[in-house]
Amino acid sequence: MTSVQDETGVLAGDERMLIDGELQHTSSGATFDVIHPASEEVAGQATDGTVADMERAIGAARRAFDETDWSRDLDFRYHCLTQLHEAFERNKEHLRRVLITEVGCPVKVTGSQIESPIEEVRHWAEHGKNFEYLADNGVHDTPMGPARRKIHYEPVGVVGAITPWNVPFYLNVAETVPALMAGNTVVLKPAQLTPWSGSEYGRIVAEETDIPAGVFNVVVSNANEVGAALSGDPRVDMITFTGSTATGRAILAAGAPTVKKTLLELGGKSAHIVLDDADFTMALPMAALMACVMSGQSCILPSRILLPRSRYDEGIEIMKNMMENFPVGDPWDPNNMQGPQISQGQREKVLGLIKSGIDSGARLVTGGGIPEHLPKGYYVQPTLLADVDPNSQVAQEEIFGPVLSVIPYDTDDEAIAIANNSIYGLSGEVSGGDVDRALEVAKRMRTGNVTINGKSHFGIGSPFGGTKQSGLGYRNGEEGYKEYLEAKTIGMPDTAAL
Ligand code: NAD
Repeated sequence: MTSVQDETGVLAGDERMLIDGELQHTSSGATFDVIHPASEEVAGQATDGTVADMERAIGAARRAFDETDWSRDLDFRYHCLTQLHEAFERNKEHLRRVLITEVGCPVKVTGSQIESPIEEVRHWAEHGKNFEYLADNGVHDTPMGPARRKIHYEPVGVVGAITPWNVPFYLNVAETVPALMAGNTVVLKPAQLTPWSGSEYGRIVAEETDIPAGVFNVVVSNANEVGAALSGDPRVDMITFTGSTATGRAILAAGAPTVKKTLLELGGKSAHIVLDDADFTMALPMAALMACVMSGQSCILPSRILLPRSRYDEGIEIMKNMMENFPVGDPWDPNNMQGPQISQGQREKVLGLIKSGIDSGARLVTGGGIPEHLPKGYYVQPTLLADVDPNSQVAQEEIFGPVLSVIPYDTDDEAIAIANNSIYGLSGEVSGGDVDRALEVAKRMRTGNVTINGKSHFGIGSPFGGTKQSGLGYRNGEEGYKEYLEAKTIGMPDTAAL
Protein backbone atom coordinates (compact mmCIF):
# COMPACT_ATOMS: atom_id res chain seq x y z
CA MET A 1 0.00 0.00 0.00
CA THR A 2 1.22 3.46 -0.79
CA SER A 3 0.93 5.68 2.24
CA VAL A 4 1.81 9.33 2.51
CA GLN A 5 3.00 10.16 6.01
CA ASP A 6 3.01 13.86 5.40
CA GLU A 7 3.25 16.25 2.52
CA THR A 8 6.96 16.97 2.61
CA GLY A 9 8.81 14.26 4.52
CA VAL A 10 9.34 10.53 4.50
CA LEU A 11 7.20 8.71 1.97
CA ALA A 12 6.67 4.96 1.76
CA GLY A 13 6.82 3.66 -1.78
CA ASP A 14 4.73 0.96 -3.39
CA GLU A 15 5.43 -2.46 -1.85
CA ARG A 16 4.56 -4.39 -4.98
CA MET A 17 6.51 -5.62 -7.96
CA LEU A 18 5.38 -5.77 -11.60
CA ILE A 19 5.28 -9.16 -13.31
CA ASP A 20 3.52 -9.78 -16.61
CA GLY A 21 1.48 -6.61 -16.34
CA GLU A 22 0.26 -7.20 -12.76
CA LEU A 23 1.31 -5.31 -9.65
CA GLN A 24 1.71 -8.03 -7.06
CA HIS A 25 3.18 -9.27 -3.79
CA THR A 26 5.25 -12.43 -3.59
CA SER A 27 2.98 -15.43 -2.98
CA SER A 28 4.07 -15.96 0.66
CA GLY A 29 3.34 -12.30 1.48
CA ALA A 30 6.88 -11.89 2.88
CA THR A 31 8.21 -8.34 3.05
CA PHE A 32 11.39 -6.59 4.14
CA ASP A 33 11.91 -3.23 5.81
CA VAL A 34 13.08 -0.08 4.09
CA ILE A 35 15.03 2.14 6.49
CA HIS A 36 15.24 5.93 6.20
CA PRO A 37 18.99 6.47 6.69
CA ALA A 38 18.61 9.96 8.18
CA SER A 39 16.42 8.78 11.09
CA GLU A 40 17.30 5.05 11.22
CA GLU A 41 13.54 4.41 11.33
CA VAL A 42 11.52 1.96 9.27
CA ALA A 43 9.84 3.94 6.49
CA GLY A 44 7.81 1.00 5.16
CA GLN A 45 8.11 -2.36 3.47
CA ALA A 46 8.77 -3.94 0.11
CA THR A 47 7.63 -7.34 -1.09
CA ASP A 48 10.39 -9.92 -0.84
CA GLY A 49 10.36 -11.56 -4.26
CA THR A 50 11.79 -15.04 -4.77
CA VAL A 51 13.66 -16.94 -7.46
CA ALA A 52 10.26 -18.31 -8.54
CA ASP A 53 8.97 -14.74 -9.00
CA MET A 54 12.06 -13.93 -11.05
CA GLU A 55 11.52 -16.99 -13.22
CA ARG A 56 7.91 -15.92 -13.90
CA ALA A 57 9.09 -12.43 -14.83
CA ILE A 58 11.72 -13.81 -17.23
CA GLY A 59 9.07 -16.06 -18.80
CA ALA A 60 6.79 -13.07 -19.29
CA ALA A 61 9.56 -10.99 -20.86
CA ARG A 62 10.52 -13.91 -23.13
CA ARG A 63 6.92 -14.32 -24.32
CA ALA A 64 6.48 -10.60 -24.86
CA PHE A 65 9.62 -10.52 -26.98
CA ASP A 66 8.92 -13.66 -29.00
CA GLU A 67 5.14 -13.43 -29.42
CA THR A 68 4.23 -9.73 -29.63
CA ASP A 69 5.31 -7.13 -32.17
CA TRP A 70 6.90 -4.87 -29.51
CA SER A 71 10.33 -5.45 -31.08
CA ARG A 72 9.08 -4.39 -34.53
CA ASP A 73 6.62 -1.59 -33.79
CA LEU A 74 8.79 1.51 -33.44
CA ASP A 75 5.88 3.97 -33.53
CA PHE A 76 4.16 2.16 -30.64
CA ARG A 77 7.35 2.13 -28.59
CA TYR A 78 7.73 5.86 -29.19
CA HIS A 79 4.14 6.36 -28.06
CA CYS A 80 4.71 4.30 -24.87
CA LEU A 81 7.97 5.99 -23.92
CA THR A 82 6.49 9.42 -24.54
CA GLN A 83 3.71 8.40 -22.15
CA LEU A 84 6.33 7.21 -19.66
CA HIS A 85 8.13 10.54 -19.83
CA GLU A 86 4.88 12.41 -19.17
CA ALA A 87 3.97 10.02 -16.34
CA PHE A 88 7.36 10.48 -14.66
CA GLU A 89 6.86 14.25 -14.94
CA ARG A 90 3.49 13.93 -13.15
CA ASN A 91 5.06 11.76 -10.44
CA LYS A 92 8.23 13.83 -10.12
CA GLU A 93 7.79 15.10 -6.56
CA HIS A 94 6.58 11.69 -5.40
CA LEU A 95 9.69 10.04 -6.91
CA ARG A 96 11.90 12.67 -5.29
CA ARG A 97 10.46 11.95 -1.84
CA VAL A 98 10.85 8.21 -2.34
CA LEU A 99 14.49 8.79 -3.34
CA ILE A 100 15.26 10.93 -0.30
CA THR A 101 13.46 8.43 1.97
CA GLU A 102 15.40 5.43 0.66
CA VAL A 103 18.84 6.94 0.00
CA GLY A 104 19.01 10.01 2.24
CA CYS A 105 20.07 12.10 -0.76
CA PRO A 106 19.84 15.83 0.16
CA VAL A 107 16.82 17.45 -1.48
CA LYS A 108 19.07 20.23 -2.80
CA VAL A 109 21.06 17.83 -4.99
CA THR A 110 18.25 15.58 -6.23
CA GLY A 111 18.09 17.26 -9.66
CA SER A 112 20.64 14.93 -11.24
CA GLN A 113 18.79 11.96 -9.80
CA ILE A 114 15.21 12.97 -10.71
CA GLU A 115 15.04 15.70 -13.36
CA SER A 116 17.96 14.32 -15.41
CA PRO A 117 16.69 10.75 -15.78
CA ILE A 118 13.16 11.96 -16.54
CA GLU A 119 14.62 14.10 -19.32
CA GLU A 120 16.61 11.09 -20.49
CA VAL A 121 13.37 9.20 -21.20
CA ARG A 122 12.41 11.90 -23.68
CA HIS A 123 15.94 11.87 -25.12
CA TRP A 124 15.91 8.10 -25.74
CA ALA A 125 12.41 8.21 -27.23
CA GLU A 126 13.56 10.81 -29.77
CA HIS A 127 16.92 9.15 -30.34
CA GLY A 128 15.30 5.78 -30.94
CA LYS A 129 12.66 7.24 -33.23
CA ASN A 130 15.29 8.85 -35.46
CA PHE A 131 17.85 6.03 -35.35
CA GLU A 132 18.67 4.40 -38.69
CA TYR A 133 17.85 0.73 -38.07
CA LEU A 134 18.66 -0.31 -41.66
CA ALA A 135 21.91 1.35 -42.71
CA ASP A 136 23.51 1.07 -46.14
CA ASN A 137 27.07 -0.25 -45.93
CA GLY A 138 27.88 0.23 -49.62
CA VAL A 139 28.77 -2.12 -52.45
CA HIS A 140 31.60 -4.58 -51.86
CA ASP A 141 33.55 -6.70 -54.38
CA THR A 142 33.25 -10.42 -53.69
CA PRO A 143 34.31 -13.53 -55.71
CA MET A 144 30.62 -13.86 -56.61
CA GLY A 145 30.41 -10.32 -57.95
CA PRO A 146 29.40 -7.07 -56.29
CA ALA A 147 27.26 -7.31 -53.14
CA ARG A 148 25.44 -4.51 -51.49
CA ARG A 149 25.55 -4.78 -47.72
CA LYS A 150 23.04 -3.41 -45.31
CA ILE A 151 23.33 -3.41 -41.56
CA HIS A 152 20.12 -4.18 -39.73
CA TYR A 153 20.23 -3.05 -36.12
CA GLU A 154 17.82 -5.23 -34.18
CA PRO A 155 17.05 -5.68 -30.48
CA VAL A 156 19.08 -8.18 -28.49
CA GLY A 157 16.00 -9.82 -26.92
CA VAL A 158 15.26 -10.18 -23.20
CA VAL A 159 17.42 -7.78 -21.18
CA GLY A 160 18.00 -8.29 -17.45
CA ALA A 161 18.79 -4.99 -15.72
CA ILE A 162 20.42 -5.13 -12.27
CA THR A 163 20.97 -1.84 -10.46
CA PRO A 164 22.74 -0.54 -7.32
CA TRP A 165 21.42 1.70 -4.57
CA ASN A 166 23.53 4.83 -4.87
CA VAL A 167 21.61 6.57 -7.69
CA PRO A 168 18.68 4.17 -7.98
CA PHE A 169 16.04 5.97 -10.01
CA TYR A 170 18.62 7.39 -12.41
CA LEU A 171 20.20 3.98 -13.02
CA ASN A 172 16.86 2.17 -13.27
CA VAL A 173 16.03 4.56 -16.11
CA ALA A 174 19.51 4.57 -17.67
CA GLU A 175 19.62 0.77 -17.84
CA THR A 176 16.08 0.13 -19.07
CA VAL A 177 14.74 2.99 -21.19
CA PRO A 178 17.24 2.74 -24.08
CA ALA A 179 16.78 -1.06 -23.95
CA LEU A 180 12.99 -0.69 -24.26
CA MET A 181 13.17 1.94 -26.98
CA ALA A 182 15.52 -0.33 -28.97
CA GLY A 183 12.79 -3.01 -28.92
CA ASN A 184 13.95 -5.30 -26.12
CA THR A 185 11.81 -6.57 -23.26
CA VAL A 186 13.15 -6.03 -19.76
CA VAL A 187 13.30 -7.50 -16.27
CA LEU A 188 14.57 -4.96 -13.74
CA LYS A 189 16.04 -6.10 -10.40
CA PRO A 190 16.61 -3.06 -8.17
CA ALA A 191 18.99 -3.09 -5.20
CA GLN A 192 17.83 -4.31 -1.79
CA LEU A 193 18.38 -0.94 -0.09
CA THR A 194 16.33 0.94 -2.71
CA PRO A 195 13.41 -1.27 -3.76
CA TRP A 196 10.89 1.56 -4.08
CA SER A 197 12.74 3.44 -6.82
CA GLY A 198 12.11 0.26 -8.80
CA SER A 199 8.60 -0.61 -7.58
CA GLU A 200 7.36 2.95 -8.19
CA TYR A 201 8.72 2.73 -11.74
CA GLY A 202 6.74 -0.51 -12.16
CA ARG A 203 3.57 1.05 -10.73
CA ILE A 204 3.83 4.02 -13.09
CA VAL A 205 4.35 1.75 -16.11
CA ALA A 206 1.34 -0.39 -15.12
CA GLU A 207 -1.01 2.45 -14.22
CA GLU A 208 -0.05 5.25 -16.57
CA THR A 209 1.32 3.78 -19.81
CA ASP A 210 0.26 1.39 -22.59
CA ILE A 211 3.46 -0.67 -22.26
CA PRO A 212 2.09 -4.20 -22.77
CA ALA A 213 2.14 -6.94 -20.15
CA GLY A 214 5.50 -8.68 -19.96
CA VAL A 215 7.45 -6.00 -21.83
CA PHE A 216 8.65 -4.40 -18.59
CA ASN A 217 8.86 -6.29 -15.29
CA VAL A 218 10.30 -5.33 -11.91
CA VAL A 219 11.25 -8.00 -9.37
CA VAL A 220 11.89 -6.63 -5.90
CA SER A 221 13.78 -8.82 -3.45
CA ASN A 222 16.03 -8.74 -0.42
CA ALA A 223 18.08 -11.69 -1.69
CA ASN A 224 21.16 -11.61 -3.95
CA GLU A 225 20.19 -15.01 -5.34
CA VAL A 226 17.24 -13.40 -7.15
CA GLY A 227 19.67 -11.20 -9.13
CA ALA A 228 21.85 -14.26 -9.67
CA ALA A 229 18.82 -16.14 -11.07
CA LEU A 230 18.37 -13.36 -13.64
CA SER A 231 22.03 -13.32 -14.67
CA GLY A 232 22.20 -17.10 -15.12
CA ASP A 233 18.90 -17.76 -16.90
CA PRO A 234 19.30 -19.05 -20.48
CA ARG A 235 16.12 -17.23 -21.54
CA VAL A 236 17.85 -13.90 -20.89
CA ASP A 237 19.88 -12.61 -23.87
CA MET A 238 21.69 -9.74 -22.18
CA ILE A 239 22.51 -8.42 -18.73
CA THR A 240 23.01 -4.73 -18.16
CA PHE A 241 24.49 -4.17 -14.72
CA THR A 242 25.72 -1.34 -12.56
CA GLY A 243 27.30 -2.18 -9.24
CA SER A 244 30.44 -3.44 -7.59
CA THR A 245 33.28 -5.12 -9.44
CA ALA A 246 32.87 -8.25 -7.26
CA THR A 247 29.25 -8.68 -8.36
CA GLY A 248 30.21 -7.84 -11.96
CA ARG A 249 32.64 -10.76 -11.95
CA ALA A 250 29.89 -13.09 -10.63
CA ILE A 251 27.51 -11.89 -13.36
CA LEU A 252 30.09 -12.50 -16.08
CA ALA A 253 30.68 -16.00 -14.76
CA ALA A 254 26.94 -16.71 -14.55
CA GLY A 255 26.46 -15.61 -18.15
CA ALA A 256 29.42 -17.58 -19.51
CA PRO A 257 27.58 -20.90 -20.13
CA THR A 258 25.14 -19.15 -22.49
CA VAL A 259 27.69 -16.55 -23.73
CA LYS A 260 25.39 -13.80 -22.58
CA LYS A 261 25.98 -10.28 -23.83
CA THR A 262 27.00 -8.33 -20.74
CA LEU A 263 27.24 -4.59 -20.16
CA LEU A 264 29.00 -3.78 -16.91
CA GLU A 265 29.45 -0.43 -15.17
CA LEU A 266 31.46 -1.22 -12.04
CA GLY A 267 33.44 0.35 -9.25
CA GLY A 268 36.03 3.10 -9.42
CA LYS A 269 38.91 4.68 -7.56
CA SER A 270 39.41 7.74 -9.66
CA ALA A 271 42.35 10.10 -9.33
CA HIS A 272 42.41 13.86 -9.70
CA ILE A 273 45.83 15.05 -10.87
CA VAL A 274 46.26 18.66 -9.80
CA LEU A 275 49.13 20.07 -11.86
CA ASP A 276 51.46 22.68 -10.36
CA ASP A 277 50.05 25.45 -12.58
CA ALA A 278 46.41 24.73 -11.63
CA ASP A 279 44.10 27.33 -10.14
CA PHE A 280 43.88 25.77 -6.67
CA THR A 281 41.10 28.10 -5.55
CA MET A 282 38.87 26.71 -8.32
CA ALA A 283 39.94 23.08 -8.39
CA LEU A 284 40.22 22.13 -4.74
CA PRO A 285 37.04 23.51 -3.16
CA MET A 286 35.20 21.69 -5.96
CA ALA A 287 37.16 18.49 -5.26
CA ALA A 288 36.11 18.63 -1.61
CA LEU A 289 32.51 19.42 -2.51
CA MET A 290 32.30 16.49 -4.92
CA ALA A 291 33.47 14.15 -2.16
CA CYS A 292 30.67 15.27 0.13
CA VAL A 293 27.50 15.97 -1.90
CA MET A 294 26.48 12.35 -2.39
CA SER A 295 28.18 11.38 0.89
CA GLY A 296 30.93 10.08 -1.39
CA GLN A 297 28.55 7.43 -2.75
CA SER A 298 29.46 8.11 -6.36
CA CYS A 299 31.26 5.70 -8.66
CA ILE A 300 33.06 8.44 -10.59
CA LEU A 301 34.19 10.44 -7.55
CA PRO A 302 37.88 11.39 -7.82
CA SER A 303 38.71 10.16 -4.32
CA ARG A 304 42.49 10.24 -4.73
CA ILE A 305 43.83 13.80 -4.92
CA LEU A 306 47.35 13.99 -6.34
CA LEU A 307 49.03 17.24 -5.31
CA PRO A 308 52.43 18.54 -6.49
CA ARG A 309 54.86 18.53 -3.57
CA SER A 310 55.72 22.17 -4.36
CA ARG A 311 52.17 23.28 -3.45
CA TYR A 312 51.17 20.42 -1.14
CA ASP A 313 50.38 22.29 2.10
CA GLU A 314 48.51 25.05 0.25
CA GLY A 315 46.25 22.47 -1.43
CA ILE A 316 45.52 20.58 1.77
CA GLU A 317 44.57 23.78 3.59
CA ILE A 318 41.98 24.71 0.92
CA MET A 319 40.27 21.29 1.05
CA LYS A 320 40.39 21.22 4.85
CA ASN A 321 38.58 24.58 5.05
CA MET A 322 35.91 23.43 2.60
CA MET A 323 35.30 20.16 4.42
CA GLU A 324 35.18 21.71 7.88
CA ASN A 325 32.48 24.12 6.77
CA PHE A 326 30.46 21.72 4.68
CA PRO A 327 26.72 21.61 5.50
CA VAL A 328 26.04 18.05 6.67
CA GLY A 329 22.67 16.99 8.08
CA ASP A 330 18.98 16.31 7.50
CA PRO A 331 18.50 15.64 3.77
CA TRP A 332 15.04 17.26 3.85
CA ASP A 333 16.63 20.60 4.84
CA PRO A 334 17.52 22.48 1.62
CA ASN A 335 20.50 24.08 3.35
CA ASN A 336 22.31 20.77 3.63
CA MET A 337 24.41 19.33 0.84
CA GLN A 338 25.63 16.13 2.49
CA GLY A 339 23.25 13.58 3.95
CA PRO A 340 23.87 10.26 5.69
CA GLN A 341 25.48 7.12 4.28
CA ILE A 342 22.76 4.79 3.09
CA SER A 343 23.05 2.21 5.86
CA GLN A 344 24.74 1.34 9.10
CA GLY A 345 26.79 -1.28 7.22
CA GLN A 346 28.05 1.30 4.72
CA ARG A 347 28.95 3.72 7.54
CA GLU A 348 30.94 1.00 9.32
CA LYS A 349 32.76 0.17 6.09
CA VAL A 350 33.69 3.85 5.55
CA LEU A 351 34.88 4.34 9.15
CA GLY A 352 36.85 1.07 8.91
CA LEU A 353 38.65 2.21 5.77
CA ILE A 354 39.49 5.58 7.33
CA LYS A 355 41.01 3.72 10.29
CA SER A 356 42.96 1.43 7.97
CA GLY A 357 44.38 4.53 6.25
CA ILE A 358 45.53 6.02 9.55
CA ASP A 359 46.96 2.65 10.63
CA SER A 360 48.96 2.52 7.40
CA GLY A 361 50.57 5.92 8.08
CA ALA A 362 48.12 8.46 6.62
CA ARG A 363 47.65 11.75 8.50
CA LEU A 364 44.10 12.65 9.52
CA VAL A 365 43.70 16.32 8.56
CA THR A 366 40.00 16.64 9.41
CA GLY A 367 36.96 14.48 10.10
CA GLY A 368 37.36 10.77 10.60
CA GLY A 369 34.28 10.09 12.71
CA ILE A 370 30.58 10.73 13.26
CA PRO A 371 29.45 14.40 13.42
CA GLU A 372 28.72 15.26 17.05
CA HIS A 373 25.55 17.20 16.23
CA LEU A 374 24.04 14.21 14.38
CA PRO A 375 23.64 11.34 16.85
CA LYS A 376 20.83 9.82 14.76
CA GLY A 377 21.27 8.81 11.14
CA TYR A 378 24.22 7.15 9.43
CA TYR A 379 26.33 10.28 9.05
CA VAL A 380 30.11 10.47 8.56
CA GLN A 381 32.19 13.64 8.88
CA PRO A 382 33.81 14.96 5.70
CA THR A 383 37.26 13.45 6.02
CA LEU A 384 40.63 14.42 4.61
CA LEU A 385 43.58 12.05 4.78
CA ALA A 386 47.04 13.31 3.74
CA ASP A 387 50.37 11.54 3.09
CA VAL A 388 48.45 8.47 1.91
CA ASP A 389 50.59 5.55 0.73
CA PRO A 390 49.45 4.93 -2.89
CA ASN A 391 49.64 1.18 -2.34
CA SER A 392 47.67 1.14 0.92
CA GLN A 393 44.16 -0.27 1.23
CA VAL A 394 42.60 3.20 1.58
CA ALA A 395 44.25 4.27 -1.71
CA GLN A 396 43.30 1.10 -3.55
CA GLU A 397 39.77 0.22 -2.38
CA GLU A 398 36.60 2.08 -3.26
CA ILE A 399 35.43 3.77 -0.03
CA PHE A 400 32.02 5.16 -1.05
CA GLY A 401 32.19 7.75 1.70
CA PRO A 402 32.97 11.50 2.07
CA VAL A 403 36.69 10.82 2.19
CA LEU A 404 39.57 12.20 0.13
CA SER A 405 43.03 10.63 0.15
CA VAL A 406 45.81 13.07 -0.70
CA ILE A 407 49.02 11.75 -2.29
CA PRO A 408 52.04 13.97 -3.09
CA TYR A 409 54.06 13.70 -6.31
CA ASP A 410 57.10 15.40 -7.90
CA THR A 411 56.74 15.07 -11.68
CA ASP A 412 53.87 14.69 -14.16
CA ASP A 413 55.14 11.20 -15.02
CA GLU A 414 55.01 10.20 -11.37
CA ALA A 415 51.47 11.58 -11.00
CA ILE A 416 50.29 9.59 -14.03
CA ALA A 417 51.91 6.41 -12.69
CA ILE A 418 50.19 6.87 -9.30
CA ALA A 419 46.85 7.57 -10.98
CA ASN A 420 47.16 4.42 -13.09
CA ASN A 421 48.19 2.30 -10.09
CA SER A 422 44.68 0.86 -9.65
CA ILE A 423 42.65 -2.15 -10.75
CA TYR A 424 39.95 0.37 -11.68
CA GLY A 425 39.73 2.66 -14.72
CA LEU A 426 36.42 4.46 -14.50
CA SER A 427 37.12 8.20 -14.47
CA GLY A 428 39.78 10.75 -13.81
CA GLU A 429 40.29 14.45 -13.49
CA VAL A 430 43.10 16.85 -14.35
CA SER A 431 43.40 20.46 -13.26
CA GLY A 432 45.99 22.71 -14.84
CA GLY A 433 46.61 26.25 -16.13
CA ASP A 434 48.02 25.03 -19.46
CA VAL A 435 45.10 23.12 -21.00
CA ASP A 436 47.31 21.45 -23.66
CA ARG A 437 49.54 20.03 -20.94
CA ALA A 438 46.46 18.91 -18.99
CA LEU A 439 45.12 17.20 -22.12
CA GLU A 440 48.39 15.30 -22.59
CA VAL A 441 48.12 14.08 -18.99
CA ALA A 442 44.43 13.15 -19.50
CA LYS A 443 45.32 11.10 -22.57
CA ARG A 444 47.76 9.03 -20.53
CA MET A 445 45.27 8.19 -17.77
CA ARG A 446 44.00 4.62 -18.25
CA THR A 447 40.36 5.42 -17.59
CA GLY A 448 37.14 5.56 -19.58
CA ASN A 449 36.53 9.26 -18.96
CA VAL A 450 38.40 12.35 -17.82
CA THR A 451 37.28 15.80 -16.71
CA ILE A 452 39.67 18.73 -17.27
CA ASN A 453 39.34 21.85 -15.15
CA GLY A 454 35.89 20.89 -13.91
CA LYS A 455 34.43 20.51 -17.42
CA SER A 456 32.41 17.34 -16.92
CA HIS A 457 32.77 14.39 -19.25
CA PHE A 458 29.40 13.03 -18.14
CA GLY A 459 26.21 13.48 -20.13
CA ILE A 460 23.55 11.67 -22.15
CA GLY A 461 25.16 12.61 -25.48
CA SER A 462 28.63 11.13 -24.80
CA PRO A 463 29.69 7.51 -24.23
CA PHE A 464 30.41 6.61 -20.61
CA GLY A 465 32.16 3.42 -19.59
CA GLY A 466 35.04 2.08 -17.56
CA THR A 467 38.30 0.41 -18.57
CA LYS A 468 40.23 -2.29 -16.66
CA GLN A 469 38.02 -3.71 -13.86
CA SER A 470 35.59 -0.78 -13.99
CA GLY A 471 33.47 -2.28 -16.72
CA LEU A 472 32.65 -3.44 -20.20
CA GLY A 473 30.76 -1.37 -22.75
CA TYR A 474 29.06 2.01 -22.65
CA ARG A 475 26.04 3.91 -21.51
CA ASN A 476 24.95 7.15 -23.19
CA GLY A 477 25.75 8.48 -26.63
CA GLU A 478 25.32 6.52 -29.85
CA GLU A 479 27.55 3.79 -28.41
CA GLY A 480 25.22 3.44 -25.43
CA TYR A 481 22.12 2.95 -27.61
CA LYS A 482 23.86 0.42 -29.84
CA GLU A 483 24.67 -1.71 -26.79
CA TYR A 484 21.00 -2.79 -26.83
CA LEU A 485 21.08 -3.69 -30.53
CA GLU A 486 22.71 -6.44 -32.56
CA ALA A 487 24.24 -5.40 -35.91
CA LYS A 488 23.11 -7.91 -38.52
CA THR A 489 24.89 -7.52 -41.87
CA ILE A 490 22.76 -8.50 -44.86
CA GLY A 491 24.46 -9.06 -48.22
CA MET A 492 22.13 -8.58 -51.18
CA PRO A 493 22.09 -7.85 -54.89
CA ASP A 494 23.31 -4.40 -55.83
CA THR A 495 20.11 -3.69 -57.68
CA ALA A 496 18.19 -3.43 -54.38
CA ALA A 497 16.69 -0.03 -53.72
CA LEU A 498 18.55 1.88 -51.03
P1 NAD B 1 26.38 -4.48 -5.52
O1 NAD B 1 27.29 -5.03 -6.57
O2 NAD B 1 26.50 -4.99 -4.15
O3 NAD B 1 24.85 -4.68 -5.93
C1 NAD B 1 24.32 -4.22 -7.15
C2 NAD B 1 23.14 -5.08 -7.54
O4 NAD B 1 23.58 -6.41 -7.79
C3 NAD B 1 22.04 -5.18 -6.49
O5 NAD B 1 20.80 -5.09 -7.15
C4 NAD B 1 22.25 -6.58 -5.93
O6 NAD B 1 21.08 -7.14 -5.44
C5 NAD B 1 22.70 -7.33 -7.15
N1 NAD B 1 23.47 -8.55 -6.88
C6 NAD B 1 24.21 -8.86 -5.80
N2 NAD B 1 24.79 -10.07 -5.95
C7 NAD B 1 24.42 -10.53 -7.17
C8 NAD B 1 24.73 -11.70 -7.93
N3 NAD B 1 25.55 -12.65 -7.47
N4 NAD B 1 24.20 -11.83 -9.17
C9 NAD B 1 23.40 -10.86 -9.68
N5 NAD B 1 23.06 -9.73 -9.00
C10 NAD B 1 23.58 -9.57 -7.76
O7 NAD B 1 26.59 -2.89 -5.58
P2 NAD B 1 25.97 -1.79 -4.62
O8 NAD B 1 26.65 -1.88 -3.30
O9 NAD B 1 24.49 -1.85 -4.68
O10 NAD B 1 26.40 -0.44 -5.37
C11 NAD B 1 27.62 0.19 -5.20
C12 NAD B 1 28.59 -0.15 -6.31
O11 NAD B 1 28.04 0.26 -7.56
C13 NAD B 1 29.90 0.57 -6.20
O12 NAD B 1 30.97 -0.32 -6.45
C14 NAD B 1 29.84 1.63 -7.30
O13 NAD B 1 31.08 2.06 -7.80
C15 NAD B 1 29.06 0.92 -8.31
N6 NAD B 1 28.48 1.88 -9.27
C16 NAD B 1 29.04 1.99 -10.52
C17 NAD B 1 28.53 2.92 -11.43
C18 NAD B 1 29.12 3.04 -12.80
O14 NAD B 1 28.50 3.69 -13.65
N7 NAD B 1 30.28 2.47 -13.08
C19 NAD B 1 27.46 3.73 -11.06
C20 NAD B 1 26.91 3.60 -9.78
C21 NAD B 1 27.44 2.66 -8.90
